Amino acid sequence: MRSTSFTVNNRTYTMPDAPVVVICIDGSEPDYHAEAMKAGRMPWLSSVLAGEGSSWPAHCAMPALTNPNNLSIATGQPSAVHGVCGNYFFDAERGEEVLMNDKRFLRAPTIFAAADDAGLDVVVVTAKDKLRHLLGAGLVEDGPSLDGSGEFVAPTRTGVCFSAEKADMATSARNGIDNVLQLVGKPVPDVYSADLSEFTLAAGVAILKSRGADLMYLSLTDYIQHKHPPGTAAANAFYEMIDSYAAQLDELGAIVALTADHGMSAKTDDNGKAKVLYVEDEVRSILGLDPAARGDEGADGLRVILPITDPYIAHHGALGSFASVYLPAGADRDLLIERLRTLDGIEAAHSREHAARIYSLPADRIGDVVVLAEAGTALGRFPAWHDLTDLDAPLRSHGALGELQVPFIVNRCLPRPDLVDETYGLPACVHNYDAFWVATTLVVQQQSGAASVV
Ligand code: ZN
Ligand code: ZN
Repeated sequence: MRSTSFTVNNRTYTMPDAPVVVICIDGSEPDYHAEAMKAGRMPWLSSVLAGEGSSWPAHCAMPALTNPNNLSIATGQPSAVHGVCGNYFFDAERGEEVLMNDKRFLRAPTIFAAADDAGLDVVVVTAKDKLRHLLGAGLVEDGPSLDGSGEFVAPTRTGVCFSAEKADMATSARNGIDNVLQLVGKPVPDVYSADLSEFTLAAGVAILKSRGADLMYLSLTDYIQHKHPPGTAAANAFYEMIDSYAAQLDELGAIVALTADHGMSAKTDDNGKAKVLYVEDEVRSILGLDPAARGDEGADGLRVILPITDPYIAHHGALGSFASVYLPAGADRDLLIERLRTLDGIEAAHSREHAARIYSLPADRIGDVVVLAEAGTALGRFPAWHDLTDLDAPLRSHGALGELQVPFIVNRCLPRPDLVDETYGLPACVHNYDAFWVATTLVVQQQSGAASVV
């Protein structure tokens, strides 16, 4: 295993002489671990950062949503390359709005597929089942070919990929593993719970201990972060739990990288009431379109897509910070962009082409206009479209630049990379999607550099 290298999506990954585990803490605004450390609840992380660890400011990929960023971490590239630009999108080719959980939307092979093909033992555990087919493509089932042709082919070998949500249904044939509940020693967790993430981490530890792995990806859920701000009792308890599993992975000799798919912001006013800007209403008013036509998707040529929409809407009521607007023929796009930018709560509005360029998005899968809210504001379509009855805590959500900053921590001493070349957000040295490269190639480079000095 020592000298194994593989190249995928124009990046080369060289395996170090230790298992590599990347943990994606869903919705982990950097304040969460900072507050938990301050409260003395993350002893492992505190000792790593005081000692041999590295921690750098990092950006996520745009939009700041779960599916796009998980696929970015899995492919080492932004969504312009892998094609998954939302949890939900408008498939212009087929003329339908669909969830982006289907692997047919994936345009690039994953690091997991390439590592598996190179003979490495790859394990992927995701909290929510919605990511399983995307992350498992090319690892346990057909996925984009490693030659970059875009054709879907069966993997040459089979790795492991399953979700905590459906851990009881994992089989050797479908997931590369069975008897998961027995192995982990826990029951199937509730999908809306902190236990779903704990199960994912416990499975990672149990697998590393029992059968081992070369490359592992553990992707959690942001159930806690959507409800509980940094430093609260529930948040600190959750990060203490994460710390205890990261410590066990470290103890087993793993190179452990912690990052997030995106941050998380409170989207409320001073009274805790959701602060929402209804994009479809605003666009109809600016363009003089009939307000009565709203809700009838695309009937009059206007379509507002909220890409945070997913089957787990109790988290956020489909209110995020990013919206894609498809316009009727002849609409004055420049005027619309200009007027949207003046609205309170809007951070940016761009044409499709401009947004695709600056945020590395797939131009054929976003609207004519892309709208980004400020950190403190959520974007909706129109009030009646959102069912907020399941929201039992003040709205916290994500999707755009207010949730761009993510943690990036590795339990190894590494040279700090140069700043990324992006015109937005606070300075950052890496993207979350550099996690596997840093935990493999950069670790090896540092080790061999250090070795040659000695
Ligand atoms: Zn997420
Ligand atoms: Zn979320």
